[in-house]
Amino acid sequence: MEWQRLKQEILEAAPDLGIDKVGFAAADPFLELKQVLLNHRAKGYESGFEEPDIDKRVYPDRSLAEPQSLISIAIAYPSKLQDPPRSEPGAYRGILSRSAWGVDYHHVLQDRLTKLEAFIAERVPDARMQSMVDTGALADRAVAERAGIGWVGKNCAVITPEWGSWVYLGEMITNIPFPPDKASTDQCGDCTLCIDTCPTGALVGPGQLNSSRCISFVTQTKGVVEDELMRKIGNRLYGCDTCQVVCPKNKGLNWTHQPELQPDPEKVKPLLIPLLSMGNKEFKEQYGSSASSWRGKKPIQRNAIIALGNFKDRSAVPVLSDLLKQDPRPEIRATAAWAMGRIGGEEAIEALHDAQLSEQQAIVLEELAKASLILESNHV
Ligand code: SF4
Ligand code: SF4
Repeated sequence: MEWQRLKQEILEAAPDLGIDKVGFAAADPFLELKQVLLNHRAKGYESGFEEPDIDKRVYPDRSLAEPQSLISIAIAYPSKLQDPPRSEPGAYRGILSRSAWGVDYHHVLQDRLTKLEAFIAERVPDARMQSMVDTGALADRAVAERAGIGWVGKNCAVITPEWGSWVYLGEMITNIPFPPDKASTDQCGDCTLCIDTCPTGALVGPGQLNSSRCISFVTQTKGVVEDELMRKIGNRLYGCDTCQVVCPKNKGLNWTHQPELQPDPEKVKPLLIPLLSMGNKEFKEQYGSSASSWRGKKPIQRNAIIALGNFKDRSAVPVLSDLLKQDPRPEIRATAAWAMGRIGGEEAIEALHDAQLSEQQAIVLEELAKASLILESNHV
């Protein structure tokens, strides 16, 4: 009864702690998950960003000795921009996914979990607690599903009945034996919209993601992206929301009550060309507090070049030519070559030709050759 009362107190305090939903679950191992994770790895579907030790993701006692229960928390984030700036010829814009709007959600979740820990510690001074966010050991979606927060949709996102899938998840392992909530059950039914709409076919089955084809993952890599994926990236600078945007369970949902998570439209839908000349200091000032900055500025600048190529923005050719001539990063020069091949025109052909005479790096020479070939065959 004592633990039921504390659970009730936590549920009542949640809004004041800045938490939108709390669920409780037993700390049993996630045995059913183990085979899923092993298959996922065997098929090469992992992103490489996840906890490498599968046992740590499956067994809560690898993170906290003698765990009794798990607490899953969710906080809701916005899905719509108020008065978004327009993208137009000569002033095209890229877009950051919603997960990079506002302050980095890792910090916001950590803040809420710290407050929750303090709330519990005040009432149970000898409680042991281990909180984790995203990159923590446990599979946060499995914890959330078991704790009744929401079900894992075919798009791999946890979908809550109240907030849709526009939620960030965090969890805590504790030695307090809270009475568990009822696990969530699948409510996708016959719908397959997310799988059908994914631009790259990265959702290879219900709840099965091939990360290497997922645009969200690809935008966070640092190398040269393959042609097919560059075309499909469109103007995405970081992440991809398509499989959540099309989900009928998210229809009309937009959450504006968490102050730190609200976006600055100019930052999350920025002009592309100014991004290309941004130095480290300015990048840190502009994007340092956003989740999109964790891989540094190179992936975002590379994606901005891809977006200019996809917009076929002729006004970008001079700046792309300069990058091709002067940027010290081969991935940036190679991507600039690809973009100029996409944009076309005399000026682009000339710049590609000049670069071929001086370029030394194989990956750049390869993109230059491909781009020149495309442009010359279009030209004849
Ligand atoms: Fe497909 Fe984009 Fe969803 Fe990845 S995030 S599965 S690319 S729709
Ligand atoms: Fe489920 Fe349909 Fe949403 Fe996909 S789009 S997660 S199938 S409800």
